[in-house]
Amino acid sequence: MAKCPNCGTEVSKPERAFKNRFFHVEAYACKKCGHNFKFTG
Ligand SMILES: [Zn+2]
Repeated sequence: MAKCPNCGTEVSKPERAFKNRFFHVEAYACKKCGHNFKFTG
């Protein structure tokens, strides 16, 4: 779960998630405002 940095809506499911050797990356798309953002961790 991540928060859209644009409008603050919580997006529960990532569109895509993948891992490289250093990061776990989740790509989210906000359904409310259409903003795309990534989360790494
Ligand atoms: Zn948004």
